[in-house]
Amino acid sequence: MSIAIVGLGPGADDLQAPRAAAALAQATDIVGYTTYVARVPECNGQIRHVTDNREEILRARHALTLASEGRRVAIVSSGDAGVFAMASAVFEAIEHGDPAWRALDIEVIPGISAMFAAAARIGAPLGHDFCAISLSDNLKPWDTVLLRLRAAAEAGFVIALYNPISRARPWQLGAALDVLRTILPPSTDIAMAQAVSCPDERILFATLAEADPTLADMRTLVLIGSAATRRIARPDGGVWLYSPRGSIA
Ligand code: SAH
Repeated sequence: MSIAIVGLGPGADDLQAPRAAAALAQATDIVGYTTYVARVPECNGQIRHVTDNREEILRARHALTLASEGRRVAIVSSGDAGVFAMASAVFEAIEHGDPAWRALDIEVIPGISAMFAAAARIGAPLGHDFCAISLSDNLKPWDTVLLRLRAAAEAGFVIALYNPISRARPWQLGAALDVLRTILPPSTDIAMAQAVSCPDERILFATLAEADPTLADMRTLVLIGSAATRRIARPDGGVWLYSPRGSIA
């Protein structure tokens, strides 16, 4: 009957849109990766369909099949469902799948993406032009990642790096930082924002010269400042990073 593609936000309950919470409460079926479904409060009679992270298209087809059987489905992602997440998989499945799926009632409910949650903890690093790049080479060649990193750095964008590292991809962040070091000054500000809005949140600041890729994990968003990004020292030893609205760089 319907499918809501829901972004759960970065972790904290109060960083989730009320519209997302309403869609989850109304759903007859919740579909998603195990750890994301675990974040949805249990509702009586609701069926939970959990699958492994690598099967995005299969999961999308499963959700669409349930919806076409008359179920009210919510398919969930962390952050925003449209940013490196399930919404694209659902539309890809619709484009190539059963033509009847096009008539389903589909709503995409936005969430706070990791880059926005991280930026808010850090100051205002995304106040000027920025881009987001996933370092995962599961779904694109590593050469494409390198090309985009170089182009973004040369163009002066602040860069938000998603999926910096995983058990299967231990070296990508180090290689990405090495490429950026050939283009950006050693003093470039870097922030590693881990588990933002969760109890184990940790925010680390470094310069590009000293940034240690082994400090990032699967729940880390890495922000690379531009030449315009400024650092403000705070009396407690902490810092704010911001990118001024007017930029000469
Ligand atoms: N749709 C999600 C992104 C999914 S890709 C969103 O909009 O946020 C998964 C990546 O998101 C992780 O590898 C990490 O880089 C980032 N991420 C997700 N939640 C995070 C959090 N709470 N803190 C920091 N980074 C996070």
